[in-house]
Amino acid sequence: MESYRIGLIPGPVSVPEEIRKAWLNDYASSDLEDEFFTLYRDNQALTQKLLHTKNDIVITSGEAMSILWAALKCTLKAGEKVLAVSSGLFGEGFADMARAFGAEAEICAFPYDGIPEAEKVREHAKRYRPKVITAVHCETPSGTLTPCLEEIGRIAREVGAIFVVDFVSSVGGAELDVDACGIDIGLLGSQKVLSLTPCLSVSSISSRAWEVIADVNYSGYESYLGWKKIPAEHYMPYTHDWQAMKALNISLNMIMREGMEAAFKRHDMAARLCRDMGREMGLKLYPKSENICSPTVTAFYVPEKFTWPEFDGALRAKGLAIGGNYGSLAGKVFRIGHMGSQADCDLVREGMNVIREVLQ
Ligand SMILES: *Cc1c(COP(=O)(O)O)cnc(C)c1O
Repeated sequence: MESYRIGLIPGPVSVPEEIRKAWLNDYASSDLEDEFFTLYRDNQALTQKLLHTKNDIVITSGEAMSILWAALKCTLKAGEKVLAVSSGLFGEGFADMARAFGAEAEICAFPYDGIPEAEKVREHAKRYRPKVITAVHCETPSGTLTPCLEEIGRIAREVGAIFVVDFVSSVGGAELDVDACGIDIGLLGSQKVLSLTPCLSVSSISSRAWEVIADVNYSGYESYLGWKKIPAEHYMPYTHDWQAMKALNISLNMIMREGMEAAFKRHDMAARLCRDMGREMGLKLYPKSENICSPTVTAFYVPEKFTWPEFDGALRAKGLAIGGNYGSLAGKVFRIGHMGSQADCDLVREGMNVIREVLQ
């Protein structure tokens, strides 16, 4: 097993001991026990609070990619149109995924080091008339946070589209009001801010979205349909992961105990410290402006005197694990993940000190 003294990978993050304890329980079958459904209901309520929503919450097995697929497959039939608002790899990925099962997709593209502009999205949406509009709150590979979700949500209403938002790596570390933004399907993963293993996914689903989901009637493994009546009905599409459900409960209660505002502040402070220390040691921030940086992850250019494998190797040799990148950002941009259990100024300081040593 590989574990590092200082873990600052942008997911999966380090799982705190208090959460790990959930896996020591030896539960009976989740299908058969009322106790499991009570736990499921409790997690739904806690998630609604976290997301500021009255929408239904569906909690499924599998990490976040499973619900990115679910959101698309459950709302689009072959030939139907999705507009993917993109300022990064995940934004763009929605279009590739939709095309893979025969839907039509256009990308409303913005530079990876920037954020979407609502007016351009409005023009594109009015011209293209998509059935679904997708957006990403935190573009983890770019280290940016999209502030205009409320406006894009309004645009979705104007053109009668379902609004799907990937907030996998932001919620819990950054403020997001699902209902104020008009998010019909919201997507949250377990291995980022929630600090679980990549075991569960959480979706918020509006009544407008349920209507479309019923009409599309997709019936594959990732389908939301079988979850609509859980926990009122005790008959799930597959056996659920009770340990993971317990771990989620511990995590959500930890956030509530800390207070959501305090958790956002902790993320903001860790992010600021990371950017400030990076600037001091001559690292160049990848996002165009500090105002669009995510509080959960910071992206810097790989310093010129190193290749990424050399830099990464030197850091790992000193016990620091950080994130590289993908696609066009591979080898050029690296990332420090300060989300969930890793949103900790002492840990970030320790990690940035290692980077300083290696740069010298
Ligand atoms: C992590 C993440 C996902 C899920 O992808 P995996 O890397 O496969 O876990 C989806 N969207 C965003 C924005 C993410 O950060």
